[in-house]
Amino acid sequence: MKIFITRKIPDRGINLLKEAGYEVLVSPEDRPLTKIELIFSTQGAGAVLAQLTDTIDREVLEAWKASVKVIANYAVGFDNIDLAAAAEFGIAVTNTPGVLTETVAEHTFALILAIAHRIAEADRFARAGRYHGWEPELLLGTDVSHKKLGILGCGRIGSLVAEHGVKGFGMEAVYYDLRQNEALEKDCGAKFSSTIEGVLSEADFVSIHVPLLPSTHHLINAERLRLMKPTAYLVNTSRGPVIDETALAEALKDGVIKGAALDVYENEPEINPVLKTLDNVILTPHIASATLETRQKMGELAAKNIIEVLSGRPALNPVALKR
Ligand code: NAD
Repeated sequence: MKIFITRKIPDRGINLLKEAGYEVLVSPEDRPLTKIELIFSTQGAGAVLAQLTDTIDREVLEAWKASVKVIANYAVGFDNIDLAAAAEFGIAVTNTPGVLTETVAEHTFALILAIAHRIAEADRFARAGRYHGWEPELLLGTDVSHKKLGILGCGRIGSLVAEHGVKGFGMEAVYYDLRQNEALEKDCGAKFSSTIEGVLSEADFVSIHVPLLPSTHHLINAERLRLMKPTAYLVNTSRGPVIDETALAEALKDGVIKGAALDVYENEPEINPVLKTLDNVILTPHIASATLETRQKMGELAAKNIIEVLSGRPALNPVALKR
Protein backbone atom coordinates (compact mmCIF):
# COMPACT_ATOMS: atom_id res chain seq x y z
CA MET A 1 0.00 0.00 0.00
CA LYS A 2 1.12 3.54 -0.77
CA ILE A 3 1.52 6.37 1.74
CA PHE A 4 1.64 9.94 0.45
CA ILE A 5 3.61 12.61 2.36
CA THR A 6 2.63 16.11 1.29
CA ARG A 7 6.03 17.71 2.01
CA LYS A 8 9.51 16.38 2.75
CA ILE A 9 9.98 15.75 6.49
CA PRO A 10 13.03 14.52 8.49
CA ASP A 11 13.79 10.89 7.66
CA ARG A 12 12.79 8.88 10.75
CA GLY A 13 9.05 8.82 10.10
CA ILE A 14 9.61 8.00 6.43
CA ASN A 15 11.97 5.14 7.37
CA LEU A 16 9.47 3.71 9.86
CA LEU A 17 6.82 3.53 7.15
CA LYS A 18 9.24 1.91 4.70
CA GLU A 19 10.37 -0.62 7.31
CA ALA A 20 6.71 -1.51 7.87
CA GLY A 21 6.53 -2.43 4.18
CA TYR A 22 4.73 0.57 2.75
CA GLU A 23 5.62 2.34 -0.46
CA VAL A 24 6.25 5.96 0.50
CA LEU A 25 5.71 8.81 -1.97
CA VAL A 26 6.98 12.22 -0.87
CA SER A 27 5.77 15.32 -2.71
CA PRO A 28 8.64 16.53 -4.92
CA GLU A 29 7.53 20.15 -4.43
CA ASP A 30 9.34 22.31 -1.88
CA ARG A 31 6.14 24.27 -1.10
CA PRO A 32 2.59 23.58 0.11
CA LEU A 33 0.54 21.77 -2.52
CA THR A 34 -2.41 23.49 -4.16
CA LYS A 35 -5.88 22.03 -3.71
CA ILE A 36 -5.80 20.43 -7.17
CA GLU A 37 -2.39 18.93 -6.43
CA LEU A 38 -3.63 17.59 -3.09
CA ILE A 39 -6.62 16.00 -4.76
CA PHE A 40 -4.64 14.32 -7.55
CA SER A 41 -1.31 13.52 -5.94
CA THR A 42 -2.53 10.90 -3.47
CA GLN A 43 -2.79 8.43 -6.39
CA GLY A 44 -4.80 5.81 -4.54
CA ALA A 45 -2.73 6.08 -1.34
CA GLY A 46 -4.09 4.39 1.78
CA ALA A 47 -2.83 7.16 4.05
CA VAL A 48 -1.67 10.76 3.85
CA LEU A 49 0.91 12.32 6.15
CA ALA A 50 -0.21 15.95 5.95
CA GLN A 51 1.13 19.37 7.00
CA LEU A 52 -0.74 22.15 8.76
CA THR A 53 -0.38 24.19 5.54
CA ASP A 54 -2.55 21.66 3.65
CA THR A 55 -6.17 22.78 3.59
CA ILE A 56 -7.99 19.46 3.70
CA ASP A 57 -11.58 20.48 3.13
CA ARG A 58 -14.69 18.53 2.14
CA GLU A 59 -13.78 18.61 -1.56
CA VAL A 60 -10.33 17.15 -0.95
CA LEU A 61 -11.74 14.52 1.42
CA GLU A 62 -14.45 13.58 -1.07
CA ALA A 63 -11.72 12.90 -3.63
CA TRP A 64 -9.68 10.89 -1.13
CA LYS A 65 -12.45 8.83 0.41
CA ALA A 66 -12.17 5.90 -2.01
CA SER A 67 -8.65 5.01 -0.86
CA VAL A 68 -7.46 7.08 2.12
CA LYS A 69 -8.10 5.44 5.49
CA VAL A 70 -6.14 7.84 7.67
CA ILE A 71 -4.71 11.37 7.59
CA ALA A 72 -1.85 11.81 10.03
CA ASN A 73 -1.39 15.56 10.55
CA TYR A 74 2.24 16.49 11.22
CA ALA A 75 1.17 18.93 13.99
CA VAL A 76 -0.75 18.98 17.25
CA GLY A 77 -3.21 21.51 15.79
CA PHE A 78 -5.71 20.21 13.24
CA ASP A 79 -7.66 23.32 12.23
CA ASN A 80 -6.60 22.68 8.59
CA ILE A 81 -8.85 19.60 8.34
CA ASP A 82 -12.65 19.43 8.01
CA LEU A 83 -13.15 16.86 10.77
CA ALA A 84 -16.90 16.54 10.25
CA ALA A 85 -16.41 15.62 6.59
CA ALA A 86 -13.57 13.22 7.46
CA ALA A 87 -15.82 11.46 9.99
CA GLU A 88 -18.66 11.33 7.46
CA PHE A 89 -16.34 9.68 4.89
CA GLY A 90 -14.88 7.27 7.46
CA ILE A 91 -11.37 8.74 7.28
CA ALA A 92 -9.48 8.70 10.58
CA VAL A 93 -7.52 11.84 11.53
CA THR A 94 -4.56 11.88 13.92
CA ASN A 95 -2.18 14.51 15.30
CA THR A 96 1.15 14.62 17.18
CA PRO A 97 0.43 15.78 20.76
CA GLY A 98 3.05 15.74 23.50
CA VAL A 99 6.23 15.24 21.46
CA LEU A 100 6.46 18.96 20.68
CA THR A 101 5.34 20.35 24.03
CA GLU A 102 8.83 21.03 25.44
CA THR A 103 10.09 22.63 22.25
CA VAL A 104 7.09 24.94 21.86
CA ALA A 105 7.27 25.91 25.54
CA GLU A 106 10.99 26.68 25.08
CA HIS A 107 10.26 28.81 22.03
CA THR A 108 7.51 30.63 23.92
CA PHE A 109 9.92 31.43 26.72
CA ALA A 110 12.56 32.50 24.21
CA LEU A 111 9.99 34.98 22.87
CA ILE A 112 9.06 36.21 26.36
CA LEU A 113 12.71 36.85 27.24
CA ALA A 114 13.52 38.31 23.83
CA ILE A 115 10.69 40.85 23.82
CA ALA A 116 11.30 41.88 27.45
CA HIS A 117 15.04 42.30 26.90
CA ARG A 118 14.60 43.83 23.42
CA ILE A 119 16.94 41.21 21.96
CA ALA A 120 15.94 41.49 18.29
CA GLU A 121 15.91 45.27 18.46
CA ALA A 122 19.33 45.31 20.17
CA ASP A 123 20.73 42.93 17.56
CA ARG A 124 19.53 45.24 14.76
CA PHE A 125 21.01 48.21 16.64
CA ALA A 126 24.43 46.57 17.01
CA ARG A 127 24.59 45.34 13.42
CA ALA A 128 23.68 48.82 12.15
CA GLY A 129 26.89 50.17 13.73
CA ARG A 130 24.95 52.25 16.24
CA TYR A 131 26.74 50.90 19.33
CA HIS A 132 29.30 53.48 20.45
CA GLY A 133 29.87 52.30 24.03
CA TRP A 134 28.00 51.43 27.22
CA GLU A 135 25.27 53.86 28.19
CA PRO A 136 23.22 53.95 31.40
CA GLU A 137 19.91 54.13 29.53
CA LEU A 138 20.67 52.23 26.35
CA LEU A 139 17.80 49.96 25.25
CA LEU A 140 16.24 49.65 28.68
CA GLY A 141 14.06 46.56 28.91
CA THR A 142 11.73 44.95 31.41
CA ASP A 143 12.41 42.22 33.98
CA VAL A 144 10.64 38.91 33.56
CA SER A 145 11.54 37.54 37.00
CA HIS A 146 8.85 37.90 39.69
CA LYS A 147 6.28 39.26 37.22
CA LYS A 148 2.80 37.88 36.64
CA LEU A 149 2.48 35.39 33.78
CA GLY A 150 -0.99 34.98 32.28
CA ILE A 151 -1.76 31.82 30.32
CA LEU A 152 -4.75 31.50 28.00
CA GLY A 153 -5.34 27.77 27.41
CA CYS A 154 -3.53 25.76 30.04
CA GLY A 155 -3.20 22.36 28.39
CA ARG A 156 0.09 20.60 27.64
CA ILE A 157 2.04 23.61 26.31
CA GLY A 158 0.38 26.31 28.43
CA SER A 159 1.06 24.33 31.63
CA LEU A 160 4.73 23.87 30.81
CA VAL A 161 5.13 27.58 30.02
CA ALA A 162 3.52 28.37 33.39
CA GLU A 163 5.87 25.92 35.11
CA HIS A 164 8.95 27.47 33.44
CA GLY A 165 7.80 30.92 34.52
CA VAL A 166 7.16 29.94 38.15
CA LYS A 167 10.07 27.57 38.69
CA GLY A 168 12.62 29.26 36.45
CA PHE A 169 11.87 32.93 37.01
CA GLY A 170 9.91 33.14 40.26
CA MET A 171 6.86 34.38 38.37
CA GLU A 172 3.29 34.15 39.58
CA ALA A 173 1.03 32.31 37.13
CA VAL A 174 -2.64 33.01 36.49
CA TYR A 175 -4.53 31.07 33.83
CA TYR A 176 -7.83 30.90 31.99
CA ASP A 177 -9.09 27.65 30.51
CA LEU A 178 -12.41 25.91 30.07
CA ARG A 179 -11.16 23.36 32.61
CA GLN A 180 -9.43 23.94 35.91
CA ASN A 181 -5.93 22.40 35.98
CA GLU A 182 -5.61 21.22 39.56
CA ALA A 183 -2.31 19.40 38.97
CA LEU A 184 -0.70 22.65 37.83
CA GLU A 185 -2.20 24.60 40.72
CA LYS A 186 -0.71 22.09 43.14
CA ASP A 187 2.63 21.91 41.36
CA CYS A 188 3.34 25.62 41.02
CA GLY A 189 0.58 27.58 42.69
CA ALA A 190 -0.98 28.74 39.42
CA LYS A 191 -4.19 30.63 40.02
CA PHE A 192 -7.32 29.84 37.99
CA SER A 193 -9.31 32.74 36.57
CA SER A 194 -12.87 31.92 35.54
CA THR A 195 -12.76 34.73 32.98
CA ILE A 196 -10.31 35.70 30.28
CA GLU A 197 -10.70 39.32 31.42
CA GLY A 198 -9.26 38.36 34.83
CA VAL A 199 -6.02 37.20 33.20
CA LEU A 200 -5.78 40.08 30.75
CA SER A 201 -6.15 42.79 33.38
CA GLU A 202 -3.66 41.28 35.85
CA ALA A 203 -0.81 39.80 33.81
CA ASP A 204 2.47 41.41 32.81
CA PHE A 205 2.99 38.77 30.10
CA VAL A 206 0.02 37.04 28.44
CA SER A 207 0.85 33.85 26.53
CA ILE A 208 -1.74 32.16 24.31
CA HIS A 209 -1.99 28.35 24.02
CA VAL A 210 -5.58 27.59 22.98
CA PRO A 211 -6.36 25.56 19.84
CA LEU A 212 -7.95 27.40 16.90
CA LEU A 213 -11.68 26.64 17.07
CA PRO A 214 -14.76 28.67 16.16
CA SER A 215 -14.89 29.63 19.86
CA THR A 216 -11.28 30.90 19.94
CA HIS A 217 -11.28 32.82 16.65
CA HIS A 218 -10.39 36.46 17.54
CA LEU A 219 -10.36 35.55 21.24
CA ILE A 220 -8.09 38.59 21.49
CA ASN A 221 -9.73 41.61 19.89
CA ALA A 222 -9.48 45.41 20.27
CA GLU A 223 -11.72 45.48 23.33
CA ARG A 224 -9.75 42.77 25.14
CA LEU A 225 -6.42 44.37 24.26
CA ARG A 226 -7.62 47.50 26.02
CA LEU A 227 -8.08 45.45 29.20
CA MET A 228 -4.37 44.66 29.30
CA LYS A 229 -1.93 46.84 31.21
CA PRO A 230 -0.12 49.40 29.05
CA THR A 231 3.11 47.84 30.35
CA ALA A 232 2.10 44.29 29.37
CA TYR A 233 3.33 42.04 26.55
CA LEU A 234 1.32 39.58 24.44
CA VAL A 235 2.91 36.35 23.18
CA ASN A 236 1.26 34.00 20.69
CA THR A 237 2.59 30.59 19.66
CA SER A 238 -0.86 29.00 19.19
CA ARG A 239 -2.60 29.91 15.91
CA GLY A 240 -2.73 33.33 14.22
CA PRO A 241 -6.50 33.77 13.87
CA VAL A 242 -6.86 33.59 17.67
CA ILE A 243 -5.80 37.27 17.57
CA ASP A 244 -7.42 40.01 15.49
CA GLU A 245 -4.08 40.98 13.93
CA THR A 246 -5.25 44.38 12.65
CA ALA A 247 -6.47 45.28 16.14
CA LEU A 248 -3.16 44.12 17.61
CA ALA A 249 -1.12 46.19 15.16
CA GLU A 250 -3.20 49.26 16.06
CA ALA A 251 -2.84 48.59 19.80
CA LEU A 252 0.94 48.25 19.49
CA LYS A 253 1.24 51.39 17.38
CA ASP A 254 -0.90 53.38 19.83
CA GLY A 255 0.83 52.11 22.98
CA VAL A 256 -2.26 50.28 24.29
CA ILE A 257 0.15 47.46 25.26
CA LYS A 258 3.93 47.57 25.45
CA GLY A 259 4.89 44.84 23.00
CA ALA A 260 4.15 41.52 21.36
CA ALA A 261 6.03 38.42 20.25
CA LEU A 262 4.37 36.28 17.62
CA ASP A 263 5.15 32.97 15.93
CA VAL A 264 1.82 32.64 14.11
CA TYR A 265 -0.23 34.99 11.93
CA GLU A 266 -3.82 35.49 10.91
CA ASN A 267 -3.22 35.03 7.15
CA GLU A 268 -0.02 33.00 6.91
CA PRO A 269 2.39 33.41 5.30
CA GLU A 270 1.36 37.10 5.18
CA ILE A 271 2.16 39.28 8.16
CA ASN A 272 0.34 42.54 8.82
CA PRO A 273 2.69 45.18 7.31
CA VAL A 274 2.31 47.51 10.33
CA LEU A 275 3.70 44.80 12.64
CA LYS A 276 6.84 44.59 10.52
CA THR A 277 7.55 48.29 11.04
CA LEU A 278 7.33 48.22 14.85
CA ASP A 279 10.34 47.80 17.13
CA ASN A 280 8.21 46.57 20.04
CA VAL A 281 7.32 43.38 18.16
CA ILE A 282 9.22 40.14 17.61
CA LEU A 283 8.16 37.97 14.69
CA THR A 284 9.22 34.35 14.13
CA PRO A 285 7.97 32.40 11.08
CA HIS A 286 5.85 29.61 12.67
CA ILE A 287 8.89 27.72 13.96
CA ALA A 288 7.93 27.07 17.60
CA SER A 289 8.26 23.28 17.15
CA ALA A 290 11.13 23.49 14.68
CA THR A 291 14.02 21.60 16.23
CA LEU A 292 15.44 18.58 14.45
CA GLU A 293 14.81 16.35 17.50
CA THR A 294 11.16 17.35 17.72
CA ARG A 295 10.46 17.23 14.00
CA GLN A 296 11.92 13.67 13.99
CA LYS A 297 9.60 12.70 16.87
CA MET A 298 6.61 14.26 15.11
CA GLY A 299 7.40 12.22 11.99
CA GLU A 300 7.75 9.03 14.02
CA LEU A 301 4.46 9.60 15.83
CA ALA A 302 2.62 10.42 12.60
CA ALA A 303 4.06 7.27 11.01
CA LYS A 304 3.06 5.12 14.01
CA ASN A 305 -0.49 6.46 13.81
CA ILE A 306 -0.66 5.49 10.14
CA ILE A 307 0.73 2.00 10.83
CA GLU A 308 -1.79 1.43 13.64
CA VAL A 309 -4.82 2.47 11.61
CA LEU A 310 -3.76 0.60 8.46
CA SER A 311 -3.18 -2.51 10.61
CA GLY A 312 -6.76 -2.31 11.81
CA ARG A 313 -5.88 -1.09 15.31
CA PRO A 314 -7.09 2.12 16.97
CA ALA A 315 -5.05 5.27 16.25
CA LEU A 316 -2.63 6.36 18.99
CA ASN A 317 -3.72 9.98 18.71
CA PRO A 318 -7.20 10.19 17.20
CA VAL A 319 -8.51 13.69 16.79
CA ALA A 320 -12.06 14.43 17.87
CA LEU A 321 -14.38 17.17 16.71
CA LYS A 322 -14.38 20.19 19.08
CA ARG A 323 -16.07 23.58 18.99
P1 NAD B 1 -3.89 21.11 24.53
O1 NAD B 1 -5.13 20.53 23.92
O2 NAD B 1 -3.10 20.27 25.47
O3 NAD B 1 -4.23 22.49 25.26
C1 NAD B 1 -5.18 23.41 24.80
C2 NAD B 1 -5.91 23.98 25.99
O4 NAD B 1 -6.78 25.03 25.53
C3 NAD B 1 -6.81 22.95 26.70
O5 NAD B 1 -6.50 22.92 28.08
C4 NAD B 1 -8.23 23.43 26.43
O6 NAD B 1 -9.12 23.16 27.50
C5 NAD B 1 -8.00 24.93 26.27
N1 NAD B 1 -9.08 25.58 25.53
C6 NAD B 1 -9.76 25.16 24.44
N2 NAD B 1 -10.69 26.06 24.07
C7 NAD B 1 -10.59 27.10 24.95
C8 NAD B 1 -11.27 28.33 25.11
N3 NAD B 1 -12.27 28.70 24.28
N4 NAD B 1 -10.90 29.12 26.12
C9 NAD B 1 -9.90 28.77 26.97
N5 NAD B 1 -9.22 27.61 26.88
C10 NAD B 1 -9.56 26.79 25.88
O7 NAD B 1 -2.99 21.55 23.29
P2 NAD B 1 -1.41 21.84 23.29
O8 NAD B 1 -0.69 20.62 22.91
O9 NAD B 1 -1.07 22.57 24.52
O10 NAD B 1 -1.34 22.83 22.02
C11 NAD B 1 -2.03 24.06 22.03
C12 NAD B 1 -2.05 24.70 20.65
O11 NAD B 1 -0.76 25.19 20.32
C13 NAD B 1 -2.36 23.73 19.49
O12 NAD B 1 -3.75 23.56 19.31
C14 NAD B 1 -1.70 24.38 18.31
O13 NAD B 1 -2.63 25.13 17.57
C15 NAD B 1 -0.66 25.28 18.91
N6 NAD B 1 0.70 24.89 18.53
C16 NAD B 1 1.45 25.74 17.79
C17 NAD B 1 2.73 25.39 17.43
C18 NAD B 1 3.61 26.31 16.62
O14 NAD B 1 4.42 25.83 15.85
N7 NAD B 1 3.51 27.61 16.81
C19 NAD B 1 3.26 24.15 17.80
C20 NAD B 1 2.47 23.31 18.55
C21 NAD B 1 1.20 23.69 18.93
